[in-house]
Amino acid sequence: MRFAPECGAEQAFPRGEVKQVERNGACRPKPIRPYSAGGQMCPTTPLTLYEVELKSPKVRFLASAAVLVNGRLHLRSVDGLTAYHGPDRRFVGIARGQYCREGITETPPVPAFCAESVPWAVNYGPEPVFDNRILTRGMSFYLEDDRGAPIAPDSPRSQEVRNAFGNAVAQWMGALQDLGPDLPPAARVAFQGMLSRSAGGYVLMTPPQVVRVGCRDTASFVVRYMTRDAKALTVGGQVKAARAQVEGRTLWINGATYPCWRAALTGELAFPKPTDGSPQCYNLTPILVHELGHAFGLAGHLDDLAHPSIMNSSIGPDLTRPTRDDALALVKILLAAIAGTPAGRLDADGPGVAITTGPTR
Ligand SMILES: [Zn+2]
Repeated sequence: MRFAPECGAEQAFPRGEVKQVERNGACRPKPIRPYSAGGQMCPTTPLTLYEVELKSPKVRFLASAAVLVNGRLHLRSVDGLTAYHGPDRRFVGIARGQYCREGITETPPVPAFCAESVPWAVNYGPEPVFDNRILTRGMSFYLEDDRGAPIAPDSPRSQEVRNAFGNAVAQWMGALQDLGPDLPPAARVAFQGMLSRSAGGYVLMTPPQVVRVGCRDTASFVVRYMTRDAKALTVGGQVKAARAQVEGRTLWINGATYPCWRAALTGELAFPKPTDGSPQCYNLTPILVHELGHAFGLAGHLDDLAHPSIMNSSIGPDLTRPTRDDALALVKILLAAIAGTPAGRLDADGPGVAITTGPTR
């Protein structure tokens, strides 16, 4: 356990020897108040747990794990099945102690903390497939609206984004697979990890899976689905369907200009115009193929007529999947050691992609 040198020199202590930590912003010694640790005999082996004290409102919370990092406090329930994430300014102190299983009561809800079940919370499959750290074996995203408020993971909108995200990852991986012997040896090794072979000689590719999470803290991507205002999606006077951070983990979707997105694996860009006056639907899959290309690190927007590309500045109905050139470009950046910016950050370099009804090549 390390303490940053804000109150004198940096100090480090073996974790097992630390009994109690208290927040003390004034850098002055403070008398240690004993926590309410048991002391009674337990009929079965006691559990080593952390008692965490939070303020405003004051809550005492028993946790099996607690981590303070980058201004956030992450707690794990006693049974290990639920993770909680909240602002570290609510943190008062933490004490380690032995607790009888029999005396542990159910964890009360922690106000203003985001709770989620742990299969989603452990940053599901965080290992990168290649050297590039943005593409991981399991990818998760947090969906938010124009104002940054969460969109429920079980909402239909969230379902379409999940499907399109998954389709887009699968299409990129499929384009790599289609390179066959032209796939560089360094990439082939990593790619083998995604393939399983049956006795009958069939090869099944399992591309990285995409899941929705309800807490921003554990999402590998933040997707902002804007329905009120397309201003942030207008670049150089042109309305974009989506934007993404290059070498990043942030996607913005224009649900204001395009009120109906659907996720199809087929190649169409626009679905037939409804006759009942409801808005025309567009296919989000090719849009996210383009934006994920940016996220992984492709700059794109070359608009070179000799080299058709899904990474051109517009997507039209004649090209809705990664080309061979796109796959070769992707391999290069997947083999590069790219760390990427944190989820939620979008700089001016996310130029956005437009939808066109005309030819793109
Ligand atoms: Zn773009």
